[in-house]
Amino acid sequence: MKQLVFFEQPLPVTPIMPLEMTCGQNAFWIKRDDLLPFSFGGNKVRKAAEFYKEIKKSGADVVMTYGSNSSNHCRIIANMAAAMELQCHVISPEENREILYNTRMVSQFGASIETCPVNEVAQTIENRKAAFVKEGKKPYFITGGGHGNPGTHSYVRAYDEICAQEAQMGVHFDYIFHASGTGATQAGLVCGQLLREDGARRIVGISIAREKERGREVVRESIESYLGADYEKYYRDDALIFEDAYRCGGYGAYDQQILNVVYRLMCKEGIPVDTTYVGKAFWGMLQYLQEQAVSGRKILFLHTGGTPLFFDKLNIIKNDK
Ligand SMILES: *Cc1c(COP(=O)(O)O)cnc(C)c1O
Repeated sequence: MKQLVFFEQPLPVTPIMPLEMTCGQNAFWIKRDDLLPFSFGGNKVRKAAEFYKEIKKSGADVVMTYGSNSSNHCRIIANMAAAMELQCHVISPEENREILYNTRMVSQFGASIETCPVNEVAQTIENRKAAFVKEGKKPYFITGGGHGNPGTHSYVRAYDEICAQEAQMGVHFDYIFHASGTGATQAGLVCGQLLREDGARRIVGISIAREKERGREVVRESIESYLGADYEKYYRDDALIFEDAYRCGGYGAYDQQILNVVYRLMCKEGIPVDTTYVGKAFWGMLQYLQEQAVSGRKILFLHTGGTPLFFDKLNIIKNDK
């Protein structure tokens, strides 16, 4: 296994920039985790930096993970494995096989993709792990989306980074909004807040797929797993805000309103966002602020990446007004 200079160093601090737009007399800033300088960036790079250490410690010779054809996580893990000169094997649901930029890159980085029906994923992963072991290999499996304590930890650190940037900028954000999927990003941010006993803001995860009950429970479980013995001491239920009203029909679905937001961010702010995660969450945030009549606040939106997905939709991104 080859060591990577980039992942041997602390990740660079990502910029927080003000947005031109206003809405309900709120002022907006955006934290550009999409600009993390590895494999088109995004929250999966922060997570990958933690998994890099775990893979190195484990002495594995094959990296396995799970994700769909649109998975940013799979792209980044396949890229990291290629750079580390490690074999990479991706299990992917067969239900949606449209070839997107992320799908193509996973293949180009040399990863093998094994498809199976979505309800056989767990079994397929176990079978493949066993088959690698039987061949005398040492697989390291990363849960889909980089879920798990290393992934959570990466966003505890990102929360600390935000607090340091606030001190430097002389601002305090009343809200942090972001797209919430498997929940590790949200779990990390909330743990960061809980551990600092820093209650004076709301972190709002906008669900891009899951319904409230399950989505919220998965984030809570991640928080419990990460805090361990400190869970009872630090956990507060009101710190976990998971909003499922802006899913627009579920994972990957979008409508003209979301396309309008994507167009506006690109055209008026110079910021590419995709329709599956970041554009949807940004639109959800605007709806939420309106519905809750939030006004005169300082709001930070976390750009979690997904730039290749922006290009998948480039042909249809336009404003209908
Ligand atoms: C994976 C992903 C998310 C969701 O992050 P989770 O930690 O899984 O909740 C949000 N935005 C983008 C662009 C992603 O790729």
